[in-house]
Amino acid sequence: MVELIPSQDTLMQILKRTGAFREGHFVYPNGKHSPHYFQMPLAFRYYDTARVLAVALSRKFRLEKDISSQLPKVSIISPSSGGIPVAFGVRDALNAEQIYWAEQEQGERQFRQYVNQGEVNPCIIVDDIIRSGHAINETVDLVKDLKSKIIGCGAIVRFDSAPDELEGVPVKSLIDFDVKMYESDEECTQCKEGIEPEHVRF
Ligand SMILES: [Zn+2]
Repeated sequence: MVELIPSQDTLMQILKRTGAFREGHFVYPNGKHSPHYFQMPLAFRYYDTARVLAVALSRKFRLEKDISSQLPKVSIISPSSGGIPVAFGVRDALNAEQIYWAEQEQGERQFRQYVNQGEVNPCIIVDDIIRSGHAINETVDLVKDLKSKIIGCGAIVRFDSAPDELEGVPVKSLIDFDVKMYESDEECTQCKEGIEPEHVRF
């Protein structure tokens, strides 16, 4: 069986078409300027698009022997709400047994109460986008506390500034994005061109 993964160009077209990838002049809450902005849930609001993206990512995992040999006794784990549709889509495609997701509660990332040690299958951590890798790293600590083994990690988009390896497993991504981020308005190309900035939340 030939398993095709759409090209990075095709996938970027999908993100543009759905509004998940936007070009312009954006200012982030930390004051940084950028000519691009990702809002991934805009792609995941369309069921068909969500399915294409999740199935493509799942194919990258299935190619890993350590993962395919353990299915279906695998858990798919999302670090945050943005990764939940990715986790459900990847779970469907891989027919994995479990799904978990972490949430920010009182300023701390955690799983829901009574998610217990020993019940969590070997896991694949998935997210919609990996920017700094901060959320993923916090999730690794949570998974270790639950005594589960990390056998995979991946996202639809990975910024090239993010880690490409985690706990000895490669970080899979459909799109590796070359990030342009300016520390201040003096360095920003769009500021120099006098383009009106849009303030965005993360
Ligand atoms: Zn600017």
